[in-house]
Amino acid sequence: MIIHLKNGVGQDRASAMADELSAFSIVKNDAHVLITSSGMKELDAKYDEVVDKIYLFDNDMQMASREYLAETREVVIGDIKIGGANNNTMMIGGPCSVESEEQITSSAELMVELGISTLRAGCYKPRTSPYSFQGLGLEGLKLLDKMRAKFGLNIITEVRDSTHIDEIIEYADIIQVGAKSMYDHGILKRCGKTNKPVLLKRGFGTTLKEFVQMAEFILSGGNDNVILCERGLRTFETGTRFTLDLCGVAYLKEYTNLPIILDPSHAMGYAYGVADLARACTAMGVEGLLIEVHPNPKVAKSDASQQLNHAEFTELLGSVRGVAQAIGREIV
Ligand code: PEP
Ligand code: MN
Repeated sequence: MIIHLKNGVGQDRASAMADELSAFSIVKNDAHVLITSSGMKELDAKYDEVVDKIYLFDNDMQMASREYLAETREVVIGDIKIGGANNNTMMIGGPCSVESEEQITSSAELMVELGISTLRAGCYKPRTSPYSFQGLGLEGLKLLDKMRAKFGLNIITEVRDSTHIDEIIEYADIIQVGAKSMYDHGILKRCGKTNKPVLLKRGFGTTLKEFVQMAEFILSGGNDNVILCERGLRTFETGTRFTLDLCGVAYLKEYTNLPIILDPSHAMGYAYGVADLARACTAMGVEGLLIEVHPNPKVAKSDASQQLNHAEFTELLGSVRGVAQAIGREIV
């Protein structure tokens, strides 16, 4: 149940009520909002004088559901707006990892040249092997900060665990929570306490219900700016790295109010399929795409097989712009 209290109900009254109902208490548009479990179906009449509106749900998709907010939430990233009444499809491009100043500068220059405003690159990499490159850490974040200052780009970078979440919040314009970290409640709860946009990636064995429930951890903490990212599931198929769940995307579009960004690069695992998938994803009318691109993919320190080179990325962008235009959207 989501309970909107009347304007003017004070903090003490809202907190006391939240305690009595074991509810989360947040403030939206200057009024208190309480969120209880969806199992709660009735509210005692003693609260009538303070309650403005009540929303009931049949499962724990509450803040994220279209029953609560019919329109897709608007999320603002610098001077870019996605969701809401905007028909924007945000292109996020950049290498898997920050590897050096020269490499990330080359990526940033490509984004500027192509009119793309958001640069991605990881500094804390959640690798499958401890012997693989783990990222440059804080040094990488400082390089991304430099790219923002020099080129005016928005920066998205991932948090691997809760030990460096405050660093990520400080340096990123969008906080990426990766497929391997998306159940980490320390990360999710901390993300709920900032207003920075959070890109929550779906784990490769995560059901749609669990995915949305993890988003609810952030939303119920008070952060409205949650973006969902589908990046492929693990199936019986080994020919491609993962299987991009576009049926799941249709479900999320239908039932949730959260903007959606699709990541064909990690789903495919190979550069050859990324452009086709990117066009298909764009045609679904989602709020954005995330594409890995590297100045020299052959020598990339992580995800080398799937990263596009600059020429391939440039060509992809041209064709997705055409698809976007055909469905009344604009790539930003
Ligand atoms: C990434 O974006 O580089 C990444 C590690 O993605 P995922 O969490 O989807 O594996
Ligand atoms: Mn990667």
